[in-house]
Amino acid sequence: MVDSDKILNGSRVGGEIQTEVADQVEQLAQKGVSPRLDVILVGEDPASKVYVGSKARTSEKLGMRSQTHVLPASISQDELEARVDGLNDDPDVDGILVQLPLPAGLDPQPVLGRLDPAKDVDGFHPENVGLLQKGFPRLVPCTPAGVMELLQRESIELQGRRAVVVGRSDIVGKPMAMLLLHAHATVTLCHSRTRDLAAVTREADILIAAVGVQGLIGAEHVSEGTVVVDVGMHRITDQELVDRYFPGNEKKAAVFEKRGAVLAGDVDFTQVAPIASRITPVPGGVGPLTIAMLMANTVRAARLRRSI
Ligand code: NAP
Repeated sequence: MVDSDKILNGSRVGGEIQTEVADQVEQLAQKGVSPRLDVILVGEDPASKVYVGSKARTSEKLGMRSQTHVLPASISQDELEARVDGLNDDPDVDGILVQLPLPAGLDPQPVLGRLDPAKDVDGFHPENVGLLQKGFPRLVPCTPAGVMELLQRESIELQGRRAVVVGRSDIVGKPMAMLLLHAHATVTLCHSRTRDLAAVTREADILIAAVGVQGLIGAEHVSEGTVVVDVGMHRITDQELVDRYFPGNEKKAAVFEKRGAVLAGDVDFTQVAPIASRITPVPGGVGPLTIAMLMANTVRAARLRRSI
């Protein structure tokens, strides 16, 4: 059993951020502004449908308006980009999110590049990427922004400390490294070609895993006292894997019994938690922060567009 003081509780911090967003939505309502988030979902990917549903529900819970545009997987690149243009031109829309991944045959880059950067609540448009890189963040990708909120609100010191990010995606790894750098950490960015990954990650005071490989980060990757943030999200449906990664964990066993699946991260929590000083769980770690930051970005976009 892991000491609860060790847990970096993303659910709690995500809840705090949501409460703050709801307060801002109320203040905006007094000025006659009701932020609106539009989400484009292309195709039938079940996981994407779940994510989109949860984004719409959370927007509404916080008093914002939300509209989901479900488009067929057969849509052409031109038609999809025309839908983005339509939302760009609609003055009633504050935030636009294109749910990724897009179905095969559709190229996400031109679509993301087409978004009005002022409505780009995922922070993936090259203009927003450039502003972040220059140190003038405007709309920052939600997952790394959420991780920063968690670290700051949990008083994890970053200045001068060694942060190692594993994963260099545009969505998580690269913006995460940039945010940590701007917070004056000494940052190392690792990827699939990194030699002797464990030797590099053992140097970390703060280790962020955004790899997309379940259980990759084990005890050999972590030094005593490291703060570990697990961005990974995997659904385990195999009993043998549940037994291997969560031996004797009655809670996980009960969830598996009930749902036929459990969630796990890129970090082998059972092995790493005893060594780490603080650690995010999966679920209840980074996931709730991502959605909270999407809501915060939507309100921010609504304010920035009106300079209020
Ligand atoms: P991604 O685009 O697949 O990128 C994975 C990165 O990990 C790549 O840079 C890759 O290196 C690196 N990598 C892969 N295998 C490696 C290995 N064995 N050793 C070292 N590096 C390795 O993934 P992503 O979109 O960043 O997502 C990462 C994880 O976070 C996924 O599990 C995803 O589901 C999860 N996620 C969760 C949330 C949330 O809200 N909780 C949000 C976003 C993503 P190369 O560049 O060399 O290929």
